[in-house]
Amino acid sequence: MNQQPFIPFNKPEIDDAEIDEVVDTLRSGWLTTGVRTAQFEREFCQYTGARHALAVNSCTAALHLALAALGVGPGDEVITTPLTFCATVNVILHVGATPVLADIGPDGNIDSLSIEARITPRTKAIIPVHFAGAPCDMNAIWSLAKKYSLFVIEDAAHAVGTHYDGQSIGSRESRSDAVAFSFYATKNLTTGEGGMVTTSDELLLNRMKVLALHGISKDAWNRYHEEGNWYYEVVDNGFKYNLSDIQSAIGIHQLRKLERFIDRRARQAAFYQQAFANLEQLELPAPVTNGRHSWHLYALRLNLELLNIDRSHFIVELRNRHIGASVHFIPIPLHPFFKRFANLAHNACPNCLKLYPRLVSLPLYPSMTDSELLYIANSVRDIVKKFSKTAPVPSWQPGVTTTVEGIAQ
Ligand SMILES: *Cc1c(COP(=O)(O)O)cnc(C)c1O
Repeated sequence: MNQQPFIPFNKPEIDDAEIDEVVDTLRSGWLTTGVRTAQFEREFCQYTGARHALAVNSCTAALHLALAALGVGPGDEVITTPLTFCATVNVILHVGATPVLADIGPDGNIDSLSIEARITPRTKAIIPVHFAGAPCDMNAIWSLAKKYSLFVIEDAAHAVGTHYDGQSIGSRESRSDAVAFSFYATKNLTTGEGGMVTTSDELLLNRMKVLALHGISKDAWNRYHEEGNWYYEVVDNGFKYNLSDIQSAIGIHQLRKLERFIDRRARQAAFYQQAFANLEQLELPAPVTNGRHSWHLYALRLNLELLNIDRSHFIVELRNRHIGASVHFIPIPLHPFFKRFANLAHNACPNCLKLYPRLVSLPLYPSMTDSELLYIANSVRDIVKKFSKTAPVPSWQPGVTTTVEGIAQ
């Protein structure tokens, strides 16, 4: 019947450059944080325009470190979005603070009007998430932060390579205190597991460095250098969040290919946009107007009132056609653990809860072939046609201008 081999939702793009660098690292005798991690941090600063970058072993670690180093803790409230991965909220709880959810706007990103409505005298920080790789309205968020003296920590797990207002997310022009990136296996740039936190604040950088490695002060090392390099002092209750050179070896080469990855993702997204443009049953991701989308995710929205099928069945239909799909995200208030605070009236997020049943993320990654992309586009159109409540679905033919390479040139 169906001869199409299964197309996974996501596949990392690793080639000999990463493999050779990992092998060289293994042969070098230095496996943990060392010269390759320092190089990765340096080159990440060059790529994003960041003043400082600290490599860590996950985005979760980066967010936790930033909150801890900024002194956010018990009695403080931190405002974030309900349309995110649980890690964004877990770290707020890890430092003993209270998560407060603001609703999302039409683009799926946190809504600044909703943020302002949730600010209380206890509010200490805002954690916006650049959903799918589309930048949040940072100017509005920075204005609020200034007006109410709040910290801003960006969850940029989807946003390595995203641009906002002429700058890379994480750049030195950012008015955020810290920006946290993820190099998890499914992200635009991967080290298997890994992360980075950028900041323009040298004091904050140094506090995060100490907290990232057991609370050990390297200053003591320098101070007592003449006594030999065995000496260190623990000056805080730190964590174990450093990135190893094995992982940085992968990251160095991923970073060099990132512009190519994003270009390919953008072309694939543009292809989907054209393939689905004349289907009223689908609402497509909105184009970014003040920056560059990194296209970490292609999150479709089903217009359920025009379909005889719900989202779960839509995903089953995709799977029957050997296509992997996913949902980003199950809203925070729907998780049992978060219910105790997230269902409180002052955390209401009706826009997010209304959007959730409509969300389907399609495969989008550089190694997906043009024929796989065309197959997915045709399959989605097929499913829409099969389950459409309304008039016949208009036809679509990919022409010369709608091949992946022909788009966006
Ligand atoms: C992936 C992800 C994280 C967590 O990243 P890790 O590197 O796995 O810790 C945090 N926030 C969002 C929005 C994510 O998608």
